[in-house]
Amino acid sequence: MSEELQNTQKYYVTTFYKFLRLDDPEKVQKDLENKADELNVKGLVILGHEGFNSTCAAPSLESFALWKKFICTYFDLPNLFFKDSESIKAPFRRFKVKIREEIVTTGIPEMMPPEGKNHHLSPEEWNRVLKEEDVVMIDTRNWYEYKIGTFKGALNPNIEKFTDFPQYIESQGISKDKKMLIFCTGGIRCEKGILELQKQGYENVYQLEGGIINYIKEFPNEQFEGECFVFDHRVALDQNLQPSQKYGLCPHCGQPSEIKIECKRCDSEELICVECSELEFKKDTCSKNCAHQYMLHPGKKGPKQIVPFEIEKLKNEGAVEIPTIRVSKTKVVTVNSKGETETVSLK
Ligand SMILES: [Zn+2]
Ligand SMILES: [Zn+2]
Repeated sequence: MSEELQNTQKYYVTTFYKFLRLDDPEKVQKDLENKADELNVKGLVILGHEGFNSTCAAPSLESFALWKKFICTYFDLPNLFFKDSESIKAPFRRFKVKIREEIVTTGIPEMMPPEGKNHHLSPEEWNRVLKEEDVVMIDTRNWYEYKIGTFKGALNPNIEKFTDFPQYIESQGISKDKKMLIFCTGGIRCEKGILELQKQGYENVYQLEGGIINYIKEFPNEQFEGECFVFDHRVALDQNLQPSQKYGLCPHCGQPSEIKIECKRCDSEELICVECSELEFKKDTCSKNCAHQYMLHPGKKGPKQIVPFEIEKLKNEGAVEIPTIRVSKTKVVTVNSKGETETVSLK
């Protein structure tokens, strides 16, 4: 391993969820925040009366182990299933606990998955069933997640959000005795997806245990093709569970993006998505601000406006020289060679 790689900060990332009764989410929120602060863990936890759903990242193996141990002890779940990956990119900037009515949004909060496992297939069983049986396989994720990677032969419901899933199933008229296989990123959406399918009269329904992340870990480059979209700064995971080298997030609309452009306003390079690459002004610019300026003054060049967190990102990526950056009409952020920033107000 090169010296450069050895010195690179690495993050240990884990995804986990559990449906269980939580009487006092506010208290749990405080306890998690305190512990995450102590262990320098960053990430997002969705918390509610029906349980928790989270992806977190720790800066060392030691704090990673302590965090997972804390979660198991705190919720009294010695066998909680963690789906782990590693990243040289910080997946999160801070630790946040959001209290929600549902820990995965379906629009039906009273739908609570039963204790124990309800028709889960391990990655190995999943492969066997796909090979040997006549099944209908459905991707329960959103259209843009499907687009950058999915299982060979999976149906795409083409939905904007998971709350549209029940209606999609209704509209398909699939025979009720058909064997149905459903999957999502880490398994949690399918816990409710199964209940919905059972409610609609499908008995022979199975979900991929631990979702795509768990599958790729055991069977990279097999039945899952492409990359797996994740909801953090890694954007997507490749077949080695490493952050995507291919996709960014489109600065105009927030979808995965892969088309490299050079901004006509500020000359910087950016990845924009296929949809925006067909729209005037957006197709030629790196940001909402440049698109706006370019539209007003098509022939004029100007500096890129960067928000402070992007400066942090540039520093993390090892940028030695970061130019003076205009933040707004009233403020300028300058960066010195040590990467220290200074905000100056303009009179
Ligand atoms: Zn876009
Ligand atoms: Zn630009």
